[in-house]
Parts: sequence; structure tokens; C-alpha cells
Amino acid sequence: MEYSALSFRPSANIAELRESATIAVSQRAKALKAEGRDIIDLGAGEPDFGTPAPIIGAAKRALDDGATRYTAVEGILSLRQAIAGDANREYKGTDGITASEVVVSSGSKQSLYNACMVLFGPGDEVLIPTPSWTSYYEMVGLARATSVEVHGDPARGYKVDPERLERHATPRTRGIMLNSPSNPTGAVYSADELRAILDLASARGWWVISDEIYRRISYDGAAPGALDVATRRDNLIVVNGVAKAWAMTGWRIGWTVSPPAVARSMTAFQSHTTSNAATVSQYAGLAALSLGEPVERTVRDMVTEFKARRDAALPILKASHKLTVLPPDGAFYFYIKVPGAGAVPDAGGAFCTHLLEKAGVAIVPGSAFRTPDWVRVSYAADRGQVIEACRRIVATADAM
Ligand code: PLP
Repeated sequence: MEYSALSFRPSANIAELRESATIAVSQRAKALKAEGRDIIDLGAGEPDFGTPAPIIGAAKRALDDGATRYTAVEGILSLRQAIAGDANREYKGTDGITASEVVVSSGSKQSLYNACMVLFGPGDEVLIPTPSWTSYYEMVGLARATSVEVHGDPARGYKVDPERLERHATPRTRGIMLNSPSNPTGAVYSADELRAILDLASARGWWVISDEIYRRISYDGAAPGALDVATRRDNLIVVNGVAKAWAMTGWRIGWTVSPPAVARSMTAFQSHTTSNAATVSQYAGLAALSLGEPVERTVRDMVTEFKARRDAALPILKASHKLTVLPPDGAFYFYIKVPGAGAVPDAGGAFCTHLLEKAGVAIVPGSAFRTPDWVRVSYAADRGQVIEACRRIVATADAM
């Protein structure tokens, strides 16, 4: 049976939605692999490690103990207490965070979406330091608010400062999305840089959504987080989750720490969309945060390996005559300006296509992050493959 031509026109809710640019590249890479081509895929935004074994063991035991039913929408109390405890321990000068400030969701992506939906609406403007993770713009749009790109300074890893933010502010500005360490640049804001932005937001009455999903993947100790420097928490929503640092992307556990009134509102919103995050995954998240050294050691080992890959690959990229690379201090991405930048409308996209077809390396065009002269290279892959791919990237660029 064929579908009739009864035409599907997307609703106004998603009329502006852009498909993820990363998916197009990875589909083409898969197709080439299926044809037998030697493809190195550095497009993925997920660690190439397995979830630490003690976490998997804890999840299996939870299933045997019956963790198969609905839980409270906002998550099991023990996990929310563990998240609050982790925040009180990990952030300098922070104490007194309680489970009433924590909402657990199906990945930090849902946490971010919940926050956008309850904080922003039509007529509101939200400042997004750019380049930025592609979904922020879409989430703000889904909340029917307007995202305002604030381009950072490439010489400072594309970071923004209060002056740049002020320049884009209007009376309709309602909030700002922060992300340190950053996807896609790997830039890490210092405590002073963060404090200056938070002070501005407080003075101007803006919400701050601080996405700290890469916080533990940082090469000079834990990256400063908003809770390290905030003098007040009543305009602050901190987002985190287990996906990246604990190599748990598929478990789908993220969370927010926010004022209780915001937490209640996000819980009500989530109660009509997904209800609780998967029950067994919540127990896995609890294990990640509470098993201590056996898990922490694995996380440290992963970060050490990411750093080793960065240190091995960065000199190769820097030796290119045609590429400009931002040295990352966290996360697991190189952000690179490609040949043709400024001369053609989507230099990054053209380079990605050329590189994949000619040299068999899949990477992500910077247009996904609203900076089309750039490309993102993930080093969440075997070190030898990362090195080989970087050699091919340089050879391709320098021959252009
Ligand atoms: N925030 C940033 C900056 C990301 O890069 C990602 C994933 O790529 C997410 C959030 C979403 O992570 P999660 O798997 O917890 O939904």
C-alpha cells in the first residue's frame, strides 16, 4: 500500500527546524563504509569508551531487584540526593543544594529543552555565544523565542565577554546559554570570565543556563562551573549528565540544578512529555555518582587518554599551512578554520565533502555551529586513527 498524497506540511511549531548537519555526514560515511571504503569517522560527539563495568553491574542488579516501573517524574530521590551531594562537593563554596533543586531527565538534551520551554517564550530573546552546539538554537526556536548569535573572539577560542553580550542585548533579552568546556571549540572559561558573565546576567535580570556536560573532560583539572562563582542562584540553571564523562551516552540521564520553583515547573512539563527517565538508567546514574574510586579512576583514565590524543594530534594540525586550529582545553573536539574561508559561502561544508570523498575522513561542517568557515573534528576515536585522520586532513587542506 502506498501513502496517499495527503500532503504533510510540518506544523508552525517545527517549520523553522533544521535537520542535524552531523547526521548527514555520518550517513554518507556509513554508506561509503558499506561500499568497503576505508573511512575514519571523526564526526561523533560521543566517547568511544564503554560504560565503566561497575556501573553496568549496578544496573543489572537494579533490574534483578525490580527497577522496571515508573518512578517519580523528577527522578528517584536517591539519585537526586546523589546529584545534589556531587554538586555540593564538586563546586567551590557551594553547599546546601538539596534534591528539591534537582530534576532528572532523559539526557541533558531533555534537561536543556525543559529549561528553554519553561523559561522562554514568544517575544523573548536568548543570547547564544557562537559557535555553539547546534541544538541550542533549535530549542530556543521550539520555545518560540528568538536566538541571538553572539560571536566570540576567535583569538580567545571564540569565548564571549560581558561587552560582547551587552552589544547584543535588548530589553527583550531574557537569558543566555553558556557552555564550558565548549562543543565545538573545546574552550574553557576561567573562573573570572564566568563570574563576569554571571554578574552581568544578575545585574540585567537574565536567566543563565549553564551546560556543563563536558566539565569533567578538562585537561587542567575540573573546568570552573557556574556554581563555583555564582553569588546568587536564583537566575541559574546548571545542566549536566552522565553521557560524556562517564561514557554513558545511550543510558540517557541528564539533570538540572535550579531554583525549586523552576524545578517544579520543569517537572510538570516533563510529566506531560516523557515522565521519568528510564528507571534502570537512573540506577546506573546513581552508581556513576556514588561508587567512588573504581568509577572515578576510569573517568580519570578516559580524560588522560583524551588529553594524550589532543597532544599527539595538535602538532600535526598546527603544521598545516592552510588550517587554523583552536587548541582545546576540554571536551574532545578540534575546531578548525579551513581553506576557502571567507571566499565561498560554506567553506566548511565543501571541505567536509571533499575530505570524505577524497581522503575517507568524516568530520562535521561548522555550519552546524553557525560558523560555516570552520569544521569540527572529534577525537573520540582510537588514537592511531585520530593521528592518521589528522595527517589526511592536513594533506588534503595543504593541497588545496
Ligand atoms: N550539551 C552539549 C554541549 C552536547 O555536546 C551534548 C551532546 O552532544 C549534549 C548537551 C547532550 O547530551 P546528552 O547525551 O546528555 O543528552
